[in-house]
Amino acid sequence: MTSIRRHCIATLYLLLFSSTAQAWGFFGHRLINRLAVYTLPPEMIRFYKANIDYLTDNATRPDSRRTMVPGEAPRHFLDLDVYGDSALYTLPRSYADAVAQLGEDSLLRHGIVPWQVARMKGQLTAAFQAHDADRILHLSADMGHYVADACVPLHTTHNYNGQLTGQRGIHGLWESRLPELLSNSYDFFTGPAPYLDRPTDVIWAAVGRSNAAVDSVLRFERELSQKIPADRKYGFEQRGNLTVRTYSRDFAREYHQRLNGQVERQMRLAARLVGAFWYTAWVDAGQPSLDTLPRTPSEQEKQRLALEAKQAEQAPSKPVAGHEE
Ligand SMILES: [Zn+2]
Repeated sequence: MTSIRRHCIATLYLLLFSSTAQAWGFFGHRLINRLAVYTLPPEMIRFYKANIDYLTDNATRPDSRRTMVPGEAPRHFLDLDVYGDSALYTLPRSYADAVAQLGEDSLLRHGIVPWQVARMKGQLTAAFQAHDADRILHLSADMGHYVADACVPLHTTHNYNGQLTGQRGIHGLWESRLPELLSNSYDFFTGPAPYLDRPTDVIWAAVGRSNAAVDSVLRFERELSQKIPADRKYGFEQRGNLTVRTYSRDFAREYHQRLNGQVERQMRLAARLVGAFWYTAWVDAGQPSLDTLPRTPSEQEKQRLALEAKQAEQAPSKPVAGHEE
C-alpha cells in the first residue's frame, strides 16, 4: 500500500481553489458538533453522548448533498454585503417577508443561512415534541452544520473566497488549514449551553459578528502576502496518497498570530451556539425525557443515510448557484 501511495502522487489544488463548499472543512464541522454535545445539561447529554458518533459523522452531510439537493447550496451562507451597510438590521427576520420584499431568486442567490437555522429550530422543537429519535438526531446534526457555517466570516460576504480581491484560496486557509494545523492548542471550554430567549436574533447576531470579522480576515492575509514571497507562502503536503499544494505552515502560523485567536474564538462560539440551539429546542418542546428514546438511530435511518451517501457519491459534480468555487 505504501509503495502504491508513493507512486501514485497527484498534485491537487483542492485546498486552495475548491474547498469553499465545506465551511469549517470536514475536520471543523465534525469537531464542532462533537464539542456541542458536552455543553448540554444532564437530561440531554446521555442521549446525545450515546449518539455522538452519529452527530460527528453526519456533521458534514449538508455539504455532501450540496450538488445533489436543489436549494441546498444557499443554506450555508449569506452575502450580507450585497444588501448594503445596514443589511443586518433591515433584512426581514421572517423568510416569507424576505421573499415578498426581495424575491426568492435573489434570496437564494445570496444565501439564507440565518433563516435556515431559525426554520430548523422550529423543526427540531417539533421532533422533540413527537419523541422522534431519528428526526431529533438528523435535525441536530444538520442544524449543527448550518449554525457553524454562520460563524465563518467568509460565509457572510460576496467575496467568500477572496476572488474579488486577488486572494483566492483564503476560504480554505481560514476554515480548514488553520484549525487542522492549530486546533490542538485551542481552548474549547465553552461552559454549559445557554437557553436562547430569542433564537432568531441570536443567529442573526452571529452572522453580524462573522461579517464584522471579514475585514481583518482579508486584510491580514493581504499584509502577510506582501511580506512573505510566494515560494514561502505555499507548500506541498501529503494527504493520503495525494500531494496537495496549500498554504505553508509558516504562513498559516503567522496568519493565525495576526488573527489573534479569531478562528479559535469562532469555533468555540460555534460549538456553544450549536449546543444552545439544541438545548433551546428541547426546552421549548417542554423538556421531554430523552431516556425513553431508542439509544441508536433506527435501521430505517441508517438505510436512508447509506442511500443518501451513495447518491452523493454518484451525483455529477456540476456547479451549483452561490459560492460555487
Ligand atoms: Zn456548509
